[in-house]
Amino acid sequence: MAFTDKELIENLNDFDFNCLKCSNCCRIEPGAVFLSEDDFNGIIKFLNIDEKTFLRDYCRPVYKGIREIISLKEKINYDCIFWDNGCTIYDARPFQCRAYPFWYSIIESETGLKNEMKRCRGIGRKGNVKIEEKINFYLQHKNFIYKEYKL
Ligand code: SF4
Ligand code: SF4
Repeated sequence: MAFTDKELIENLNDFDFNCLKCSNCCRIEPGAVFLSEDDFNGIIKFLNIDEKTFLRDYCRPVYKGIREIISLKEKINYDCIFWDNGCTIYDARPFQCRAYPFWYSIIESETGLKNEMKRCRGIGRKGNVKIEEKINFYLQHKNFIYKEYKL
């Protein structure tokens, strides 16, 4: 469901979040962590490796329509490839991780929100994320440009 600007601001104002640092969003269940061009470049710089090595060792292709886009790999237990008692690329973590849970797909969908609340107990808890930051995350996520998987 798409919102008017007024509805969006009201909705985001009412959307409480306070991260409990439980790491559930990085682990345990299957999921996809998509990358933008900036995410991709930031991580290879942070790891000091080349594109091919990053793609081969840390990424997997995921189909979105007819396009093959990049997602981070998961371990056999569904933990993110970069989770090891915490995020090992925290300073270069992808936008999707930084913006969670202010994704348009959560904000705009009651089902999406209900599902996400089962995973993230921080949703619904009073926090201190400013409205400007929430709007910024929501809009950037809505306009996210996925990097294609190309070897
Ligand atoms: S699942 Fe929610 S509360 Fe737990 S670390 Fe992730 S964002 Fe924070
Ligand atoms: S990149 Fe880091 S923050 Fe993002 S899912 Fe993986 S471990 Fe979690």
